[in-house]
Amino acid sequence: MTTLEGAVVVVTGAGRGIGSAIAEEMARGGAKVVVNYARSKGPAEELVQSLKELGSPQAVAIQADVADAAQAQRLIEETIKQLGRIDVLVNNAGITLDRGMKKMSLQDWDTVIQVDLSSCFYTVKAALPYFTEQKSGNIINISSFVGQAGNFGQANYSAAKAGIIGFTKTAALELARSNVTVNAICPGFIGTEMYENVPDKVKEVILQRIPLRRVGTPHEIARAVRYLIVDGGYITGQALSINGGIYM
Ligand code: NAD
Repeated sequence: MTTLEGAVVVVTGAGRGIGSAIAEEMARGGAKVVVNYARSKGPAEELVQSLKELGSPQAVAIQADVADAAQAQRLIEETIKQLGRIDVLVNNAGITLDRGMKKMSLQDWDTVIQVDLSSCFYTVKAALPYFTEQKSGNIINISSFVGQAGNFGQANYSAAKAGIIGFTKTAALELARSNVTVNAICPGFIGTEMYENVPDKVKEVILQRIPLRRVGTPHEIARAVRYLIVDGGYITGQALSINGGIYM
């Protein structure tokens, strides 16, 4: 795809943070944006209003907990029903439940794997028939540098994010013949609520670890999503690091 104009773009977990920045970037390019949210209807509806003003008059909000296979499928079916097709799927929804392994419960493990990793398979599986039939499309999965480097207290999250990279490569292989590209983006620390929840002392240590000495912005991730869609036709199966040099 060489333009966002008119493209139907689904962004999971788009109500805030990196997801809402991606939705805004897509809207600015004239895409028809689907704002997926799990629980917070208010912020999602507000975002849809601002997307309409930015250049996405047909933007819609669709509720679905993508950690549930049936709801992920409903998200895709509802997109087709309301907008007629799907051109881009951005798997952005994610959570953290951080604890050292000694204290990490089985539930902590399962929940993060389900929300951060299984959701990607669920949405891709549901969108697959549409992508393969139209013989075009882009899938972008938001991983993390933690999936490449590991991180203390994030056994569940790092496993899920590493899993996304493996899943991305396999999906890229299987979908290449249908002219669908599949890539992962691995952000470093980005200044969203997820990062704001980190204690101040830990933030100081984090900044010392980042060669560029600052956290990234959601907009910097959104621009990369745009790049992959508009200019990345020959890029597939890659994990694109946007991390200020924290992992090389
Ligand atoms: P965030 O917590 O601000 O936003 C995550 C969004 O996902 C929220 O809107 C939340 O409601 C939604 N979500 C959670 N579970 C969901 C579910 N089951 N179904 C649908 N939506 C769900 O976080 P963020 O910082 O914007 O992170 C976005 C993505 O980027 C995540 O996948 C995260 O792991 C990844 N990431 C973030 C950072 C960072 O430093 N912020 C770094 C690397 C990767």
